[in-house]
Amino acid sequence: MEPETTQTLKIGSIFFIFTHQCLFLVPEHEYERIQQTEEGYVCLERKYLPETATRDTERVTCIVCHGEAAPEDFVFPLCREMHFVVCEECMEGIQERTDERKVFCPYCKEKRSDNKTFQEEILGVILSLMPHQTLPSLEIRPGMEVKTIMRLPRGNKVSLSNFFVSDAFFSKLLSKTAVEITNGVSLFAHANSLDCCLGEFDARTRKQASIRIGEHTNQEMKQIYENIKTIPKNNIQAIAKEIHAVENGICVLLKLLDGADGYIPDLLLESPKEECIKEILGTESNLSWVGRAKKLRLVGHAVGILPKL
Ligand SMILES: [Zn+2]
Ligand SMILES: [Zn+2]
Repeated sequence: MEPETTQTLKIGSIFFIFTHQCLFLVPEHEYERIQQTEEGYVCLERKYLPETATRDTERVTCIVCHGEAAPEDFVFPLCREMHFVVCEECMEGIQERTDERKVFCPYCKEKRSDNKTFQEEILGVILSLMPHQTLPSLEIRPGMEVKTIMRLPRGNKVSLSNFFVSDAFFSKLLSKTAVEITNGVSLFAHANSLDCCLGEFDARTRKQASIRIGEHTNQEMKQIYENIKTIPKNNIQAIAKEIHAVENGICVLLKLLDGADGYIPDLLLESPKEECIKEILGTESNLSWVGRAKKLRLVGHAVGILPKL
């Protein structure tokens, strides 16, 4: 399973950035300031750069033009230790370059292969350097607003009530926070350009799409199982033609909709590996509701659950 990646999702005017350690709520005006380039470089104001022992002087200079950055200038750190930065002007030049010569931190050059990991992490590093408030818990409501960056440490409580939320957003909440659901949640299929929270009418226009439940890491699965235990039965409704669950996403689906007595969409359960199917056969006792799906497709080892239906 791939390491967890940073994901940015949106509700109304708030950007929800899920990093490995926390969930950040970023208002639109702040998000525009830190926006990532296509290559994954992120900028922040020079004054928020931490002191780095390895940077030999107090001055912060651009590695390309050697110009010194003023406190309010935006700079792009080149590595997570922030040894070197590139100024805004030089970054524009770098982006226009079509060849593969990109800039790297000379101290961290040999670690270049993990550039992808760096791109994933740098957003979280930069957000935690910027002024922000830490929230003990969070209630997500339609039309909510934040003025400054808010940080919710991983595992802190998030409550949702009578909400239409996209599968991508719900899956992040379920795997990274302690979710409390009252009065039900309806899931719809995520589309890239789409807000993750819609009104009922707009959510229903997505009902021909397919909800996807992907694979999760072991740590995420632990959090998901703890959350599902607290969700009252029949509180999750799927507004979709089909639910497509992959690998341990199948375990999540079976627990999430366990004993559902309402509408069951078509199901596509796909498991190239055997482990999660073994787990299901060992633990799940009542899968009869799965058999109520009008169309059920089992791919790979998922065929193994047939005798349980
Ligand atoms: Zn420069
Ligand atoms: Zn470096």
